[in-house]
Amino acid sequence: MHVLVLGAGVTGVTTAWYLARAGFEVSVADRQPEAALETSYANGGQISISHPEPWANPAAPLNALRWLGREDAPLLFRPHADPAQWAWTLAFLRECLPHRTRRNTAAIASLAVHSGERLRTLRAETGLAYDHLEHGILHLFFTPQEFARVPNKVAELATYGIQARSCSRDECVAIEPALAGTAGELAGGLYAPNDESGDAFRFTQALAERAAQAGVRFHYSTTISRIDHSGGRINGIEVHDAEGRNGTLTAAAYVLCLGSYSRLLVAPLGEHLPIYPVKGYSVTVPLHDLARAPSVSLTDESRRIVCSRLGDRLRVAGTAELNGYNTDINLARCQAILDWLEARFPGATDTAEAHLWAGLRPATPGNIPLIGRSRLSNLWYNTGHGTLGWTLACGSASCLVDLMSGYPAPVPNFPFLGNEA
Ligand SMILES: Cc1cc2nc3c(=O)[nH]c(=O)nc-3n(C[C@H](O)[C@H](O)[C@H](O)COP(=O)(O)OP(=O)(O)OC[C@H]3O[C@@H](n4cnc5c(N)ncnc54)[C@H](O)[C@@H]3O)c2cc1C
Repeated sequence: MHVLVLGAGVTGVTTAWYLARAGFEVSVADRQPEAALETSYANGGQISISHPEPWANPAAPLNALRWLGREDAPLLFRPHADPAQWAWTLAFLRECLPHRTRRNTAAIASLAVHSGERLRTLRAETGLAYDHLEHGILHLFFTPQEFARVPNKVAELATYGIQARSCSRDECVAIEPALAGTAGELAGGLYAPNDESGDAFRFTQALAERAAQAGVRFHYSTTISRIDHSGGRINGIEVHDAEGRNGTLTAAAYVLCLGSYSRLLVAPLGEHLPIYPVKGYSVTVPLHDLARAPSVSLTDESRRIVCSRLGDRLRVAGTAELNGYNTDINLARCQAILDWLEARFPGATDTAEAHLWAGLRPATPGNIPLIGRSRLSNLWYNTGHGTLGWTLACGSASCLVDLMSGYPAPVPNFPFLGNEA
């Protein structure tokens, strides 16, 4: 059976890879000239299995109010006259209810654990190189109140089969010696030794190359303008190339992996996907003094900033902004990340050489990705991965391919679409 995957970010390329391995004939279409040039380009680099809790949690509404009006706020709401933005925000607030947060966290944790296993298997099978490190993730807490919650977090993670431990300030420095200079401000940490980090862009490009060698056909510089459908089925995908030439791509089945743009393309089909873009920033800096830079991936839980070593570069990412599809670089928001980097690891880098980037997380209100069959008989979804698209990529794609092949996906408590009955 021929399957056309729409989108060549980390989600689309992993989907194409697992489809091809399962024996499907596969094509991929993307408007960019190469894979992973949009949100999968410069994310935080974390395979963060130890962070399944969504942003929609009971503390979020109060935090958002606390940060209101601050240009450097970790979470910023810029209201637009866009009903989709307001509907998403209301749905987000509903997902902050404690029982919904617990349910969403459990579902994400199961998929994340499975995804970590699939990533390790894929790496062993392909030997892909993407500046990956298996040094774990150290979550840093800067207030005693936040650190006091760590034992409960460790116990909760254990119920999902995720290994983590509470660390004193000295233990944090023993795990990541580059923290020594500024450890005085630390209250403590949570260390998840089985987490990883790596460059999602390099991973996706390398996997796309392997997929092409395995027979997957990539249609790059191909913009999808409309999905032609009738009688509850897709008939074809209307596209145009960089020169404006129109065409139609057809297949027996289609998988939607268009990130933040997924919602816009299927709305005319009567499919209302609860996905809204949540903008984030990253800065990537070449390292001048390797000894002063961390090699363990870090999450600053107080400021919502993550940091990963990618070879001889350091990637620092964070902030969330509801601002429509705008990807302009806001220097005030990047400066908050650069200030963090200079304060934590003085002398490790020269921030004047920083590469600034903004991307749109394809976020659902509860951070639960949409994976499974749509209401159209030959359209499938693998989209809406929000803050964890790199972490969940291999698990989401392999589960979707199981479902498309007629098998149950091996993550029993995840709400796959089309399985609701
Ligand atoms: C600042 C930041 C930090 C992050 N850090 C992490 C992290 O540390 N760990 C983690 O797990 N996740 C992280 N994420 C989230 C992760 O990067 C995303 O969830 C993931 O990249 C989404 O991948 P995707 O393939 O679904 O979307 P995308 O990468 O956006 O891919 C969608 C593709 O669809 C194509 N497309 C869209 N519209 C059309 C059209 N009309 N026609 C043709 N092609 C089209 C685009 O060109 C694109 O290639 C972060 C995100 C941000 C913004």
